[in-house]
This record gives sequence, C-alpha cells and structure tokens, in this order.
Amino acid sequence: MKVNLIGYPRPALVEFFAELDEPSFRADQLLKWIHQRAVTDFDAMTDLSKPLRRKLAQIAEIQGLASTTEKISTDGTRKWLLSLPDGNSVETVFIPEDNRGTLCISSQVGCSLNCTFCATGRQGFNRNLSSAEIIAQLWFAQRQLETENNRRPITNVVMMGMGEPLLNYEPVIRALKLMLEDCAYGFSRRRVTLSTAGVVPGINRLLNDCPVSLAVSLHAPNDELRSELVPLNRKYRIAELMEACRRYADYDRRWRVTFEYIMLKDVNDSVLHAKALARLLTEMPAKVNLIPYNKVEGLHYERPTAKVIDRFRDVLLAQRIMTITRKTRGHDVDAACGQLKGQFVDRTKRSVRLATSDSRSHALLTQAPIAAS
Ligand code: SAH
Repeated sequence: MKVNLIGYPRPALVEFFAELDEPSFRADQLLKWIHQRAVTDFDAMTDLSKPLRRKLAQIAEIQGLASTTEKISTDGTRKWLLSLPDGNSVETVFIPEDNRGTLCISSQVGCSLNCTFCATGRQGFNRNLSSAEIIAQLWFAQRQLETENNRRPITNVVMMGMGEPLLNYEPVIRALKLMLEDCAYGFSRRRVTLSTAGVVPGINRLLNDCPVSLAVSLHAPNDELRSELVPLNRKYRIAELMEACRRYADYDRRWRVTFEYIMLKDVNDSVLHAKALARLLTEMPAKVNLIPYNKVEGLHYERPTAKVIDRFRDVLLAQRIMTITRKTRGHDVDAACGQLKGQFVDRTKRSVRLATSDSRSHALLTQAPIAAS
C-alpha cells in the first residue's frame, strides 16, 4: 500500500526522505508542491530528479478529498460534504466576512461526547479522521476558493466542525503543524483556533506540542448545569478546566482564551448565570462568544430572544469581559454551529444512514453581530 504524503508534517517528511537517502530540503520542496501548488502528480514536480520522482510514484501518493455536495447559503457561507474512502463523509464550512474568510474543519466522523444540544453528538461516534483527512479539508477548500485576484481566501482556520479534536490528538497535531508550516499554509498561531469541550489533559499537551488559539465550549457557569449539558464535565470539572485555561493563556500575554457559551432559552440564559460566568472569568484573559442556539431536529431547546441575549452580554460587558454575540451563518444550509452531521456509516448495523439534512424551510436568521471590546 502506498503512503499518503498529504498528511505528513515537515519532520515526518524529513524522516521519510532520510530513509531514501535524500536531503531534508526535499521535504520543503514537496510541501510546496502539495500544499501551495496543489500538484498531486510526482512527475510534474520538476525540481526533483527523475529517478526520485519515479521512486516516489512507486511508494507514495498524494490523496486529497472530493466533494459530493456543495451548498451555498444566501449569506455566502459554503458547506461541502467530503467523501472519505470508507463511505463516511465529513462536513467542512467556509464563512466569508468583509475582511476575512474562516474555514471550519472537522476532526472526527461523529462525536463521542453527547452534548445535549448538538446535532453531531446525536449521530454517535464512528471514527477518528487521519491527519491526511483533516488537512485535506483545508487543501480542498483552498482549491475551490482561490482565484486569480484572491490567492488567500482563507485567512483563519477553526477546528470547530464535527468531533472533539483533543480526543483525536496525534492526527490533529500533525494537521495543525501543517497549517503553521511556512512551506505549507503558513498561518500564524493566532489565526488557527482549536475548540474543545474541555479535555483538560489535551489542553495541557497542546500548549506543549503546538500552541494555537484556544476556544473552550463552556456553556454553563457551574458544575451541576454543565455536567448536564456537556457530560464530559463529569470527568473534568470547571475548576480544573479553568486552571488549565489559565496556564494556557500564560503562553503569551497577548492571548485570550475564547469561551463559547451557547444561549439556551430558560436553561443557561439568566442574569444570574451571566453574573456567575463573569465571576468565573474575573482572573482570566478571556473573551466570550455567545452562540445563539441553532435548532436541531428532535431537540426541545429554544433560542432566547435577542433582548435576553443582549441582557446577558451587558452583564459581562459591565464586568469588562470582552463579549461578542456570534452571528448565525449558513443556517439555511444547516452549516451553522452544531448543525453539522456529515454522512455516517453505522458500524453496528452496517447500513448507511443518510444523515445529511433535509432542506429546511427556515428563514435565514439575520441577526446583526454585536461586537464590543
Ligand atoms: N467538540 C469541540 C468542537 C466542536 S465546536 C467543542 O465542543 O468545542 C462546535 C461548537 O458549536 C461548540 O462550541 C458547540 O458547543 C457549539 N454547538 C453545538 N451545537 C450547537 C447548536 N445546536 N447551536 C449552537 N451552537 C452549537
């Protein structure tokens, strides 16, 4: 079987070439061909010797991902369903804004965490993605989006798609390294964000192995409520999580940890909740992202009114906590937070469950972004 080099970060490629008695700069050449020029045919890599090209073609391949469906929202958000060789597929979403373009990528097929409000969790967990399958989402989207006039349509990457990235640790780290690598995508650490439901040991390791911007899905200011919404909280409590976040933020004094807080009507949206959240974050270099709940079929939750969300935000702002209400994007094509489901091969039943959503009649929610600093 040929090795797929698309998921190899620089150190792994250097090792790969060392085994072929080739110098380490071959790694840089190959990274540029694959990730910057999207060349998948070794024969076209003209700065490699012909014998090396032949050798590579025998033992290796560069395998990206193909899209089976593309949906474009009225707000310009694009969602792709990318098919994996084993019949599963994952969703990747591009969110264009005035001065930036954010790609939201997935780390697992399904998710094992069972957060009560999330569509991905309802799918169950199928498997981890390989580093090749993770980075191929960026590789694919870059190809789709780049034009003559805009060579860098993707300015930010967020690991906020399907799955819990810190429970697929090694492949995620390899993919993150490729995002930061100058010969590949060359993103700054600030522009790559990993979002976690709170896997504390993973946060500590990430700081050591590949610090990038951190987002934590908090969703509740006390253990009782959080354990209900995010079952992982029974394993890693809020105090322990906050401690890990504080350590993480120490990496760079300019850094803030983003705390995501889904707004669920009459569940976690009161002034008391907001005050408790503000207390929790007093000593933390933090910013809060309020995410109005996006409807998931079969779930009873509701989104609070804009007034309730504003009131919650104002409590935080009054305590000088930077707070933003996340604008809902791509809702009409089920590309918004928590709506990603992919297509899922159920291993137990061996039947293909078509979980891509039926088209919804929802009007697009055009809630204005309310930013404050
Ligand atoms: N497992 C990681 C990565 C997924 S990120 C994490 O939990 O952070 C996806 C983000 O969307 C998380 O903040 C998640 O809590 C949020 N989310 C999930 N379901 C949602 C829904 N129905 N409406 C709004 N946000 C949702």
